[in-house]
Parts: sequence; structure tokens; C-alpha cells
Amino acid sequence: MIIRRIAVPLAGILAGSSVLLSGPPAVASPPTDKKPVAEGYGGAVSTVDPEASRVALEVLRRGGNAMDAAVASAATLGVTEPYSAGLAGGGFIVYYDARRGRIHTIDGRETAPRAMTATSLEGIPFEQAVTSGLSAGVPGSVAQWELALRRFGTLSLRQALKPAIEVARKGFTVDQTFHDQTAANAARFADFTSTARLFLPGGAPPPVGSTFRNPELAETYRLLGRYGGRWLYGGGLGTEIVRTVKNPPVTPGSTRNVRPGLMELTDLAAYRALERPPTKMTYKGMDVYGMAPPSSGGSTVGEALNILEALPAVGMHEYLEASRLSFADRGKYVGDVPGVPLRELLSDGFAKERACLIGERAMAHPAPAGNPDGAYEPCPAASSPASPAGETPAEGPETTHLVVADRWGNVVAYNITIESTGGNGIVVPGRGFLLNNELTDFTFGPAPGDPNLPGPGKRPRSSMAPTIVLADGKPLLALGSPGGSTIITTVLQILVNRWELGMSLPEALAAPRATQRNTAQTQAEQGFIDRYGAELTARGHSFALNPEIGAATAVEFLGRGRLQAVAEPSRRGGGSALVVAPAR
Ligand code: GLU
Repeated sequence: MIIRRIAVPLAGILAGSSVLLSGPPAVASPPTDKKPVAEGYGGAVSTVDPEASRVALEVLRRGGNAMDAAVASAATLGVTEPYSAGLAGGGFIVYYDARRGRIHTIDGRETAPRAMTATSLEGIPFEQAVTSGLSAGVPGSVAQWELALRRFGTLSLRQALKPAIEVARKGFTVDQTFHDQTAANAARFADFTSTARLFLPGGAPPPVGSTFRNPELAETYRLLGRYGGRWLYGGGLGTEIVRTVKNPPVTPGSTRNVRPGLMELTDLAAYRALERPPTKMTYKGMDVYGMAPPSSGGSTVGEALNILEALPAVGMHEYLEASRLSFADRGKYVGDVPGVPLRELLSDGFAKERACLIGERAMAHPAPAGNPDGAYEPCPAASSPASPAGETPAEGPETTHLVVADRWGNVVAYNITIESTGGNGIVVPGRGFLLNNELTDFTFGPAPGDPNLPGPGKRPRSSMAPTIVLADGKPLLALGSPGGSTIITTVLQILVNRWELGMSLPEALAAPRATQRNTAQTQAEQGFIDRYGAELTARGHSFALNPEIGAATAVEFLGRGRLQAVAEPSRRGGGSALVVAPAR
């Protein structure tokens, strides 16, 4: 099929679009077919959600580019996946600009209020911090959307929000995942009047198959489109957010200890989304680009790949050990601080030194961090295990990731989050969205020297790892996943599956997963334990069952313009992959 570039200005096209602008009366959109793999031409999208994928595809079909589609899709995920994404959250975009042949990244990570110090979280039980005003970071998503559209898109924020407004107004069909996530949060949602009213209508999670509408969010998006980000970053919406953070609307009679937050309107006014140089490493001749600090995604995936490249053979034992080592280094060196030794962490010399530590048997736990100082030994003697401070606390399955490619060859890999599934559990009254609890990603301390202690204006270290791989300067693969620190291992394992074990991309996503993050036991899905457990246990690994790790999305560029969009076949209920012009 020949794709013609549309010559009419895009705003004109959108103005004539019933889908994007006006739309039929309020009935639920028909359920979209959900397929995990789509192949074809002219653009591709993969998200966890059929509505979000449909919206991205519509934007592409109407002449929008990958960034337009990504922002429209992210805003839609704020409607249909409100427990993972939303305008009060944050995220990271890795973007391939086809015209300039360059990778850019946009950091929309939340920040700590200026009143937050290294000891602000000390001694607070983690679970208590999760559901609190204290854990709410200054939202980054709206500033990120505006910057992304201004720099690389063709739509205004108002235009990009239209499809999400439609979905919020008309409603979407509640699926098992939405229902289960609501049910899992029901106890804390009930503790806030605003949250209970929105997500527990009639006092219970909405039943599977019912239509869920969010007219208040539709109105919030409409006003955001009209007034722009200023409404949030220092304006009226910002004032409402600050009020909610400082005085959460706790349900009368609730016994929950809800700590108020430190956020001020001046913190919102000071927020900036930032363009940052990507991380880059070369693996088997391919250039792997990722997200630099404050995310640890790019450096940790990159270091592990470098370690694997230094080994004579790679299987699941090596995958787990390389991951263990790079998590030890992540813990010691990576955070939103000056002087992260990125270049050395991603250097071949350091990787070779680290690779020397990988033997026939699993390493003693915990693996100590290495010394990325530029002076590397051919093979240093293994040092003794580190103190348990190097351990990584468990993280859950929250967050979401989307990939979009357009007909011009631009590519977006975008991780979006409000941290926990359900964020901090607190809906801003009357506005239809949850606040994030991103500041629980900081190390609570006391932990002298930890690069991830809280600080004024600081961004908590993330594990989000949107990744784009180029071969000969052209996109080959774009991928990412949710799942807290398991994001890193999920991305790494998919790359290992694809390039070391020779799986196709759909196989690489579907394959059972394990995650080793410098923990005593490796968490693994049952399928992984069944397949590799005996062999790896004989080599000193031990496993703890994790029922489901990650929910990846990816696009592979097969050459001659052919695209393969891939989502999960079953994790999180399965994702939705679509292409503009399906191959026959
Ligand atoms: N807050 C997490 C991070 O930035 C993402 C949310 C999650 O998946 O846990 O690493």
C-alpha cells in the first residue's frame, strides 16, 4: 500500500474529525479487538490497552506523527489505566527523530518539594508513606507533554487531549484488570471521600463489563487544553493539588494515619520537564539508547548488556548474574546527583572487570558494587559480599509503557507512571485523577552516601527503561515495560531472548521471566521455574515465585518499511498492538 503524506495542515484535519473533536452521543466505545502482534506499514503502536492503542492509531492515520500519537495515547491511558498513568504522574520519553537521525530524551520525572530533606522519609513505614500526601511528587507529565509536542509534535496540547476527553466522557468497558486493580485498592480508596466517589461507585469496584465514565477528568483535560500547563504549574489546578496534598480528604471515621505533604504552589511553578542526553552503549554492533539519570534504566540495562558481551556464551545463568552485578552498581552510584559515573558504568573496561566475577555458580549474595574508576584489572579477585544495604527492596507491577512509530520513521518509547498501582490513593476532589506517590522511590534512610536519598527539588531514582535500538543509524527495535525495578530486567531479558537465544520478538515478550536485582532469591514466573529451575538451582540459584513480571510493549523494524508491533499475549490481561496498514 502506498502511503501519501497528507498536505493539509493537521489542525484542519482534526477540526473535521468526528472521532477527535465532536463524536457521537455518550455511549461506550465498542470493544476494540485486542491482538498482541500486528505487522504492516505506515506506523505502529503497542500499548497495554485497546483504547490507548486505537487513539494512537487514529492520530497516525490522520497525519499526526509518533509524538502526537504518544501524547494522545498517554492521556488516554490516564483515563483507562488511571491506576498506572495520569496527568499528575511522571515519566520518561526516548525519541528517535528520523529527520535528524538523532535520539532525544525527555525527563518528566516528578520532583520533591523544596521543603524535603534527606531525613524527611526516615523512620516512616513504607506502607504508610505510600498512602500519604508526603509521597506525592510535583507532577511531571503535563510539562513533559507540552515540551514533547512543542519540540517534536505537530498537535497542540488541546488537540492531543481530545481523544482522551472523548473516552473519559463516553466511557470504556471495565475489564478484569481494571476491576482487580480497583478491588486490590478498595480499602485505601474507601478512606478518601473523593477516591471512593470516583472509583467505588455504590461502595464497590465497578463490575467487569460495565461502562466506566469519568466526566470530571474529561472536564479537567478540557480546561488543561484551554489554559495550558500554567493552570497546573502555579495556577488554579495547582492550588487544588497543593490543598489536597496538605489536607487529604480523609473519609470521616477512617483510622488511617495519612501524613500530609510538603508541596507548595511555588514547587509546582518551579517544575520543568528536561531534555537530557540519552545513555548509549553498543551491543553486537547495535546502538542501544536509554534513559539517563534520574532513571537508572539506561545505565543498568546497558551495563548488563556490556557484561554479557564480554562473556564467551550467554544463557539464563549469565543473564541473572550480569543483572545482579549491574544492580549492585546501580544501588551505589545512580541517582539524581551530580557526578554519576555514567561513562565508566557503560564502558567496556568496567564490563570486562565485572564479567570476570561470573563463574559456573551463582555469586554469593549480595554482590558488592564495582569500582568504575577507569583503571581496570584484567580479572580482579572476587571481593567478599557487600553489606545487605545493597539489597533492592521489592517493587510491584505498576506503571505502563507504550511504543509508537510513524510513517516518517520517528519512534517513541514512553514509560508513564504514578508509581504504585493507584498512586497515593488520593483523587483531587472533583478533578477525576489520582496523585502519584513517586517520592517513595527515594531511599528512606538513614543511608549515608546513598545517591537516592531525598533532597529539595530532587527527582527520585527511577527504573524506567524506555529503550530504542539502532542498527546502522536506523531504528531496529523499541521497547519497554512497567514493573518498578523489574522493568530493567524485563527489558534486558527480552533483548537477551531476542539476540542471544534467537527468539522472534513476539516469542521474546511471551517467554517466562525472571528478575535478579542483587537479591538473595531470584523472583521468577512459574513458567521460568519449570523451564530453567532445575538447571539453575544446580548452579546455586534459588527462586521465589512471582506470578507475573512486567507487561512489555515493543516494535521491531523489519526492513523496507515493514513494522512488527508486539504486546503481551496474556500478562495484565494482554496488550494491544496495531499497525496503520496491516500486511496481507
Ligand atoms: N516508580 C517506578 C520507577 O520509576 C515506576 C513505577 C513502577 O513500575 O514501580 O522506577
